[in-house]
This record gives sequence, C-alpha cells and structure tokens, in this order.
Amino acid sequence: MAGRPHMTAWRITRIYLIIGSLWILFSDRVVEMLVADTTTFRTISHIKGWLYVWATATLFYRLIKASFDELDAAQRQLRHMALHDHLTDLPNRRALFQTLEDVLSDKGSHGVLFFTDLDNFKYINDSFGHDIGDELLTSLSVRLRQRLGSEWELFRLGGDEFVLLLKGVPEEKVEEYTKTLHDLIGEPFSLPAATVQVTCSTGIALYPKHGATAELLLKRADTAMNRAKEQRANSFAIFHESMEQAIVERLELDQALRTALVNNEFVLVYQPQYDLVSGNICGFEALLRWNRPDVCPISPSQFIPIAEQSGVIVEIGEWVLKSACQFLREVHALGHTEFTVSVNVSALELISPSYVDKVTRIVRDSELLPEHIELEITESTLMESNGLAESQLALLRARGFRIALDDFGTGYSSLNYLRRLPISTLKIDRSFLSDIASSEHQALVAEMIKIGKLMGVSVVAEGVEHPAQVEFLTEHQCDKVQGFLFCRPISQDELLEKLKV
Ligand code: C2E
Ligand code: MG
Ligand code: MG
Repeated sequence: MAGRPHMTAWRITRIYLIIGSLWILFSDRVVEMLVADTTTFRTISHIKGWLYVWATATLFYRLIKASFDELDAAQRQLRHMALHDHLTDLPNRRALFQTLEDVLSDKGSHGVLFFTDLDNFKYINDSFGHDIGDELLTSLSVRLRQRLGSEWELFRLGGDEFVLLLKGVPEEKVEEYTKTLHDLIGEPFSLPAATVQVTCSTGIALYPKHGATAELLLKRADTAMNRAKEQRANSFAIFHESMEQAIVERLELDQALRTALVNNEFVLVYQPQYDLVSGNICGFEALLRWNRPDVCPISPSQFIPIAEQSGVIVEIGEWVLKSACQFLREVHALGHTEFTVSVNVSALELISPSYVDKVTRIVRDSELLPEHIELEITESTLMESNGLAESQLALLRARGFRIALDDFGTGYSSLNYLRRLPISTLKIDRSFLSDIASSEHQALVAEMIKIGKLMGVSVVAEGVEHPAQVEFLTEHQCDKVQGFLFCRPISQDELLEKLKV
C-alpha cells in the first residue's frame, strides 16, 4: 500500500462514499419506519448525525493509521536494506562508516579495527561453486555473530572481507583477540557438499592512533591486511607507517616496469642444466634480470608478481620467449643442436586464448622445433589459472613443446591431479635440497624422484650447492641438476664461451 498512495487514497474515499451514500439513503427511512412522532424523529436524526461523524472519524483514523504503519514498516525495511548486506544480513560498509564516524567523534575513546579477509576463498568458489561459497560466508557470519562476545561489532564489506570493531580494547590485548577470531574462523564448516576449513589474514588499525577519520582508519587496516596476506596464510599485521611507504614503492616499481621493455632494461641470463649420468650440459633455463639505471638490482621474485598484477607480464613474457629462442639458435649454430631452453611462464600468459598460437609462431619464426622449448609452470600458476591452464598445456604438449612443473613440492597438488597433467619434467624445488642432511628431507626428495619416474618424466633437482647433494641425487637416479655448484646464471656471452671450451 505504501508504494501506491493513489490507490490507498482512492480506497479510503470509496469506503467513505459507499458508507455515506448507504447512510443517507437508508438511515432516515429506517428511523421513519420505527418512529412516528416528529420530536423523537428529530432527536434521533440529531444523534444519528453525530453517530455518523464519530463512526466515519474512527474509520478514517484506523484506515489512515494502517496506511502509515505500512509506510513506516516499508521505510524501516528500506533503511535496514541500505545498511545491511543482502547475503549475510550483517551491517555493511555504509553502516561501518556511520558507526566509525560516531565512535571517532567521541574524543577520548579508543579501540581496535580488524580487517579480515579469507585466504584463497577464490579456490573454494572455483572448486565447489559459488553457491557453496555463499553458504560458507553465511555460516561464517552466523558463527561469528553467535560465538563472539557482544563486545565485538561485526560488518561485512563484501566478498570475503569482514570488519570487526572492538571498543575500549588496549593494544596489548590485540594479539589475544586476533587469535580468538582466527581460531573461530579456522574451525571446520560442514557444508552439504563437503567439510571445508578456511584460514584468514587480518589487518589491524588502532584508533585514534592510526586514523582520526573512518576512511583513513579503514584504509590503514586494509593496508595492514595486505601486509598480512604477503606473509604465510593465517597471519595478522598491525598497521605501521612503513607499510604505506612500501605501497608507494610498489606503485613506483609498477610504473617503472611499464616502461622497462621500451627502454631495453631487461636482459636474460642463463643457468645450465647438467645430465647427472654424463655430467654434460643438456640445456639451460632463461632467467630474467632488470637493469634499472641508477637503482640496485631487484630480484625477479620481487618484480614478477608486480608485473603479473599489472598485466605487463604478458608483453615481458613474449620478449623473454623471443630472446631465449634467438639465443638458442646461436647455440645450435655452434653445433649443440641437442640443447633445450627452459622459459618461465606466468598464469596470466598461459590463460590468454592466443598463447598457444603465439608460442608456436615465435618458435617457428626462430626456426626451432617445439621440442627445443621447455615451458616452466609452477603449481601456483596452475591454481591461479582456474582450470584454464590444463587445456592450454595439453594443446602445447600435443604440438610437441616440453612442459616442466617448476618448484615441485611447494604447492598442494594431489598425485591424482599431477598424473593428469601433460608434463615432461618435474623440477624439485631447492628448499628440499637445501636441507638434504635431514632424514625427513632425504625421504621426501627420494619420494619425488620416484614419483617422476612413475610418471615417466624427467626429474631435475634445482638449487644444488654441495657435493653431498649430488651424491644423494645420483644414488637415487635423479636425471638432471641445476645449481650454483655447477654454474650460476650467466650472461649469453659467458655461456657461449663455456660451450666453445
Ligand atoms: P625459478 O624458475 O625456480 O628459478 C630458479 C631460481 O633459483 C633462480 O632465481 C636461480 O637464480 C635460483 N638458483 C639456481 N640455482 C641456485 C642455487 O644453487 N642456490 C640458490 N640459492 N638459488 C639458485 P632467480 O633468477 O632470482 O628467479 C627467481 C624466480 O623468478 C624464478 O624461479 C622464476 O619463478 C621467476 N622468474 C625468473 N625469470 C622469469 C621469467 O622470465 N618469467 C617469469 N614468469 N618468471 C621468471
Ligand atoms: Mg623456473
Ligand atoms: Mg624453481
């Protein structure tokens, strides 16, 4: 009714018209039939007039009140919807800002803002579907609402981001409260499709210390959350000014990366791989270096993730492949036609629909064969590419390219999954080699070599630095090695010299 004021007014008028008309038409006749004497008739008519006025007034009052009640309820619902999240019915971002503005306007008040984001929630959505993802978020909201004490104020910003406000809590208690929150979120969820366990990362900002406005306080809690995400899963970080400096530096790097290709600041170095049986070089891995004028060298592990985020990695990757192919042609021209070159590939490159054709074209234009090129993919690349990578890899493999699974052992792939991957090489991550003296790592490396043999692929051990590692790897029949003990990554010219000897 509230949405149709015209109809409501018409309804009230109609009722008034009908009752009024019936009253005028019939009430006098009824009284005439019952009363003969004129004085009594007049008195009754008088009373009847008052009765009519009172009855219609009461009726109007009730009808108008009912309309306003409905209007009121609708307005309340609209207000609730504007301040609450549709999925979980928790207070939303707007409600958070209103609450924070109130809290911060009270000088002398202090407390803590927690910005919590689930780790790898994307994978839950991707693996189980969005309905299950939504169900998990709803269950989590119910759990937090029911089990956290009433001192916690809970908000959902959207997606898997939650904000919690604790008024009057001192800084020393922050860690304890964060642990309570993380433990609660970490309890398993029994969903219809599966039992799922999640972890989260939390950024913490204290007020009024870290921000006197709602916007600044939330931004700083978010900044701290991003720092927590960079650490291992299930971490928390308390805001510190240096984090903002890191963001500025990251933005500067991002800008510099965009122009690095045009300015010819990239160069490739090559690290040879050695056959463990013959002891000879059998190929090499191309590794990217960024020579920025007047700036200290920065490792690819630092700048590649930034290039991935901005998307510029796609152009960089193309340059890397072209340059590596050009260099391999030079090596083949020296007579080493059996050598292969390995190139690292990022998720963003791999999921581009034109990637397979692009690689095929570059390799053909360089007059090389696909079997001379090994594309290195990490397990995390596979995870990030949401299932799109597998079909691309199968196509590449069908065209004859070699595929290496890089940093093997650092991801969470099941053996079943690995078996289905169209790979030709397993590269055991150097973290397992570095501690080969421990019996636990020995068993793991031996097991990885065995898995590679069972899959019928070539096994390369990365990061070999000590003769004891070579001894162990030879004993367990690892195929190839790569590491500082044999050769560090070197320039093209150095490698060509090495091959001429
Ligand atoms: P990765 O592909 O696993 O490369 C091996 C890394 O281990 C290289 O680091 C190499 O210098 C280092 N390394 C090799 N032998 C040893 C050793 O015996 N001891 C130690 N401590 N380290 C060793 P680098 O060159 O800093 O590259 C780091 C990562 O950056 C690479 O790991 C790769 O994931 C990525 N990356 C490098 N170049 C490219 C590229 O062109 N494209 C993409 N997408 N990623 C690249
Ligand atoms: Mg690699
Ligand atoms: Mg590696």
